[in-house]
Amino acid sequence: MDQLECVVIGAGVVGLAVARALALAGQEVMVLEAAPAIGTGISSRNSEVIHAGIYYAPGSLKAALCVQGRGLLYDYCAARGIGFRRCGKLLVATHETQLPQLQGILAQAARNDVDDLELLSAAQARAMEPHLHCLAAIHSPSTGIVDSHGLMLALQADIEHAGGMVVLNSALARAVCSDAGIDLQMVDGTELRAKRVVNAAGLQAPGLARRFQGLDARWVPQAYFAKGNYFTLSGRAPFERLIYPVPQAAGLGVHLTLDLGGQAKFGPDVQWVDSADDLTVDVQRGDAFYAEVRKYWPALPDGALIPGYAGIRPKIHAPGQPACDFLIQGPRAHGVPGLVNLFGIESPGLTSSLAIAEHVLTLFS
Ligand SMILES: Cc1cc2nc3c(=O)[nH]c(=O)nc-3n(C[C@H](O)[C@H](O)[C@H](O)COP(=O)(O)OP(=O)(O)OC[C@H]3O[C@@H](n4cnc5c(N)ncnc54)[C@H](O)[C@@H]3O)c2cc1C
Repeated sequence: MDQLECVVIGAGVVGLAVARALALAGQEVMVLEAAPAIGTGISSRNSEVIHAGIYYAPGSLKAALCVQGRGLLYDYCAARGIGFRRCGKLLVATHETQLPQLQGILAQAARNDVDDLELLSAAQARAMEPHLHCLAAIHSPSTGIVDSHGLMLALQADIEHAGGMVVLNSALARAVCSDAGIDLQMVDGTELRAKRVVNAAGLQAPGLARRFQGLDARWVPQAYFAKGNYFTLSGRAPFERLIYPVPQAAGLGVHLTLDLGGQAKFGPDVQWVDSADDLTVDVQRGDAFYAEVRKYWPALPDGALIPGYAGIRPKIHAPGQPACDFLIQGPRAHGVPGLVNLFGIESPGLTSSLAIAEHVLTLFS
């Protein structure tokens, strides 16, 4: 059986970032990816927003790793020529009842060390974005957008440059954990032994962890899937910045994001589904999008929204339950030498990816 130092399962942005950090730390690394290409999972079905770190519970991994990851990501994109734009965002209150929420968001952001937010009157917000309707807004200048595929290609290049490998069409079926190492059995029957394994399988991470013999099932959370549908805007958006309503249960509300080419999209909404493969956009949901978007952009023309794509959030809490933090468990938590599981890596996982990678390294030391 082939023996390796480190195997990372999953070539999404998080698995690639972890593998890069391990490779740069001098470890022998192989990334195993089930799909025929990198980044075909959650990492290619998101808003591509570099979040500032405003909303997350103070003291949570999401809060800490988002703020740290945002800085690392801007620096990495600048150093590697990856497309990004620090366009900023406006978080808008469109109803009087939401005004106190803005104050709460400012206070929470301050506790998360996000110290560049500015409260704007409706007139100040409209001076920045003339087509916007709101009663007040928060401006977040450090929010931005990134070319997520460019990012993943750069991570893969770094892994390979440091002597690591990304192996496609290689789905892990199961593993057996022992003091001698972790024996991995691939779907095609190939077997490998690794000293360290990082389960970064995204939506499949909990299901895969249940097939790790030697890991007590009580360490594996139940997986839930919350689909986010996007509708794209036909024509040019009249906004320069990202526009977000105040956050809602299980998501950040139907917001407007831009890609680097200036194309606007709205979403994601929240639709709990039973399957991680349910990626069809439900066109019927368009009506609710018009209603939500017109709260902050009343001039949205009829017929301007076109069904776009959908992504699925890897939730580890049931519908109606409070949102969970990232659940990152190493040997000190579950007792299995050499194993790190990454569960519930939903938003802001893209923003946090480089910081998650540094955090994972500490769990092995
Ligand atoms: C709708 C939506 C919008 C979002 N918007 C943002 C945003 O704007 N900003 C932000 O910071 N974050 C955002 N996120 C979160 C972000 O996209 C994720 O946190 C991040 O992409 C997760 O990356 P990953 O590598 O963990 O998962 P994935 O990208 O899904 O990678 C996991 C990989 O594992 C592979 N795999 C699975 N099982 C196996 C197996 N058995 N063997 C081998 N390989 C396997 C899969 O094929 C896949 O390629 C959003 C998420 C969603 C769903």
